[in-house]
Amino acid sequence: MEIVKCGNIKILVSEKLKGVKHGFTLRNGGVSEGDFGSLNLGLRRGDNPFKALRNIEICTDEMGLNKERLTLTYQLHTKNVRFLKEEDIGKGLIREWGEGVDGVVTDMLHTPIMTYSADCVPTLLYDGVRKMIGAVHGGWRGTKENIIAEAVRVMAENGCERENIIALIGPAIGICCYEVSGDVGEAFCEKYPTMVKRMPNDKYMVDLKGITACQLREAGLKKENIENSNICTACENESFFSHRAQKGRSGLLGGFIQLD
Ligand SMILES: [Zn+2]
Repeated sequence: MEIVKCGNIKILVSEKLKGVKHGFTLRNGGVSEGDFGSLNLGLRRGDNPFKALRNIEICTDEMGLNKERLTLTYQLHTKNVRFLKEEDIGKGLIREWGEGVDGVVTDMLHTPIMTYSADCVPTLLYDGVRKMIGAVHGGWRGTKENIIAEAVRVMAENGCERENIIALIGPAIGICCYEVSGDVGEAFCEKYPTMVKRMPNDKYMVDLKGITACQLREAGLKKENIENSNICTACENESFFSHRAQKGRSGLLGGFIQLD
């Protein structure tokens, strides 16, 4: 993946999705200030919601996305993934889901979807044969519950071949900075021993992006169709929002994708 200029903002994009409108946002080019500066996309983070809404609009305008049909996740660390119906359009933004929906999948054209995060793992999915996209949020809970496999299952149930699906794992906190308590670390130890590191204080360092990549492989994606950004939001906090590095006061970055 590489960071490119997109009008007045910068986005992280992949060559694998060339020709598809997509990207993970950085912190620049928005109207928010301070800890939320400047492109916070979170409506419930303590930032002025009108500024966050304006930032979302800046993203859709610069990326050429159809803002009238933008649909967001509503992230409550569930493993719920929804295949969008027409009545779901706009949910997470101008209408409520009514429950946690941490992943969305659609085959509708001109209907951008977005997942948001600041340390958790945002993943974008794309099947260029069946023409279907997904946007998924995975923190440690969602990753433990394997929400990414659930998203792949929903895509397969709706006609995708797993070997055609491409996955982009966006910026998230890395094993260098993601320390968790013993019980959280142990939840991943047995299955992904190379993705966790036990520390002398009995805490663990965890590679959530690496685990997500493993889970995508287990779910039937080809190795060459999985791209890991390998960006640590805490190490690169100047460019990306990080909940941990900013001690809980941070904005949110977004992962957007749209079919045309
Ligand atoms: Zn780091």
